[in-house]
Amino acid sequence: MKIRLSAARIWDGTAPTTTREALNLIVDRGEITSVGSSLGGTSESIVRLPPGAVAIPGLIDAHVHMDLDPFLLAPDDQFKPSRSDRDLRMIARAGAMVAAGITTARDLGAGEWRELALRDAIARGELPGPRLVCAGQPLTVDQGHCHFWGGVATGAEEQAQVVRRQLAHGVDWVKVMATGGYFTKGSGVERAQFSAEELRQAVGLAGEAGLAVAAHCHGKAGIRNAAQAGVRTIEHCSFASGEGYGADYDADVVKEIAAAGTWVSPTVNANWLRRMKKDGAPTDFFRNMRGVLGGLREAGIPLLASTDAGIPGVHHHRLAAGLLAFAKYGDLSPVEVLRTATSDSALGLGLESICGRLEPGLSADVLVFAGDPLEDLALLENPILVLARGRIAHRDPSVPAPVAAA
Ligand SMILES: [Zn+2]
Repeated sequence: MKIRLSAARIWDGTAPTTTREALNLIVDRGEITSVGSSLGGTSESIVRLPPGAVAIPGLIDAHVHMDLDPFLLAPDDQFKPSRSDRDLRMIARAGAMVAAGITTARDLGAGEWRELALRDAIARGELPGPRLVCAGQPLTVDQGHCHFWGGVATGAEEQAQVVRRQLAHGVDWVKVMATGGYFTKGSGVERAQFSAEELRQAVGLAGEAGLAVAAHCHGKAGIRNAAQAGVRTIEHCSFASGEGYGADYDADVVKEIAAAGTWVSPTVNANWLRRMKKDGAPTDFFRNMRGVLGGLREAGIPLLASTDAGIPGVHHHRLAAGLLAFAKYGDLSPVEVLRTATSDSALGLGLESICGRLEPGLSADVLVFAGDPLEDLALLENPILVLARGRIAHRDPSVPAPVAAA
């Protein structure tokens, strides 16, 4: 179906500012075909946007877990509901995400590849949801981070088997747990689970299949190993130790990340907004993570917006609030933080020829707001219209329904 959005000021995903004039955005069969003053002529339907409306590209969350229920606190609880109940909840999460303006997400792990089935159903247009790219079972070690998902590998031969199993299931990424994690008790966030050499093998196996590797890293030893091994993205990058997030910050390791050209996806979620101050004073958590993100930025390391949605209390549809926190912790201007969730994210994830910008030829993933989110980032929480691959995924009552072109 051909739709004309008429008319909105445009932020294209890269420019320093929103256009001053309102333009028409024409969408045909899921693709943007024109952004400009053209009227489209043969448009089949027109959505007349309210005055002052601003359109931006759909948002990308670079780190989610579709198959994790954020209402459940312990990993064991995740497996208690029946598989069909878990599938229904996952489908509901996908619908809530796209209605909130998240039109693409990278899933970085689960145990049963059900999120890949969801990915395919969304791609076929059978279910509403974001475009998903998925990693399947993350590589980990015996009793290591998220071992319960089944990706345990000891030694090179087992590692190759686990990677091949993911490829056979049709993954888009390979995920490696380079350190322990908070979600898995006793795995030790500061502990490196694989050597740089072992991670290099995983990068090589993924690379043979044309895929990139995402490495979960908290402690600095694992971060360094991942950078040296040539992974594409480092997740979390918290420089955590037993003393907490950011406690083990190391400027030399940051230099290695920068030299390797690695992207960092720091998983700043909405709940971080509540962790900035205690009794009126900045918390250690806030100061430490502000320091980490400042160091990464100063070194020129490109950042991806991400939330780790699915872990306890981190809800899948709340990327927008996560971006408000990311702006505060990362000292990012609205346009900078928006790039990390649109054009930059698409580049980091290898999706730049598909999405991330409002440009002819790219997917019609479009958010419309009542005002300019580059001036007020809080607007991100309330899109008045969401198009995902050209289909209306959310429409506020302030936006009239599409009408046939005259
Ligand atoms: Zn995660």
